[in-house]
Amino acid sequence: MKGAGTVPARRIGIDVGGTKALGVALDSAGRVVAEGRRPTPRGADSLDALIDVLVELAQVLGHEGVANSSLGIGVPGLVTREGVLRAAPNLDGVADFDVRGLLADRVGGSIAVDNDATCAAVAEWQLGAGVGSSDMMLITLGTGIGGGLVANGVLQRGVNGFAGEFGHMVVHPDGPRCPCGRRGCWERYASGSGLAMLAREAATGRRLQNVVVHAGGDPQAVRGEHVQAAARDGDPEALAVIDDFARWVALGLSNLTNAFDPELFVLGGGLAAGADLYLDPIVRWYAGMLYQPDLRPMPRVEFAEWGPLAGAVGAALLPGL
Ligand SMILES: [Zn+2]
Repeated sequence: MKGAGTVPARRIGIDVGGTKALGVALDSAGRVVAEGRRPTPRGADSLDALIDVLVELAQVLGHEGVANSSLGIGVPGLVTREGVLRAAPNLDGVADFDVRGLLADRVGGSIAVDNDATCAAVAEWQLGAGVGSSDMMLITLGTGIGGGLVANGVLQRGVNGFAGEFGHMVVHPDGPRCPCGRRGCWERYASGSGLAMLAREAATGRRLQNVVVHAGGDPQAVRGEHVQAAARDGDPEALAVIDDFARWVALGLSNLTNAFDPELFVLGGGLAAGADLYLDPIVRWYAGMLYQPDLRPMPRVEFAEWGPLAGAVGAALLPGL
């Protein structure tokens, strides 16, 4: 990426999600010059089919063939530093799936594979809300919580490549069971499904009537978007659930602050669409929980700039990092 003759014509990034693979091509200035998407294959032969999809997308997005481009892939799950996907809850049958090796057998050029939230962190750090920051953390608030970490100007992957799994910090050891098999992980409270759980708890006992109306009358059908809709109508009970949710988000941020001492938190993922509802209460709770607030400037809390393209853009930036 750095020397003459090694600059790829295009940098291709593909973000593999549970339902679709979303690809972009960046030019040398970091502008998105092409986009493409394909359904994520499902079923018995889905992993072979996924490699086919990635190769095809890379060929579509490449310039004069993939060999003149670099290729980065973001995948959901635990990815080793060698680009092997060890486990992925949202992809069928994944166990030690050598994404990088299988792609290298099919296409030339420089190939890198990493966790999808790590890719999103790279996008915000290099081309988004974190530009210029040497110590930042990205937290994706979606169905669960993902994360990525830049410390001292270097993307941190950890010894196994598994760094940034902030969603599985335990914040309540007797809390609700998590798909990871443990209890009370941060993402049980501070993600989109956490917001829905807090709302359903509040909706029992005939509270949150306006939120239940938004959910079609069934308290068990309440999801985060129904809480947001009622909160935008000014419903005080919905705003109280948002405030409770913001407190759980802030609790995680305060724990992460003690561990990593960042300058900036960037909040991304699906819930970033509700930034106007969450940001003020998150910052207020976080300010109240900060350890030694007199001895440090409070880390900034901002929302991500890249939205749904973050994973693909960050993946495109991986080779050469
Ligand atoms: Zn967990």
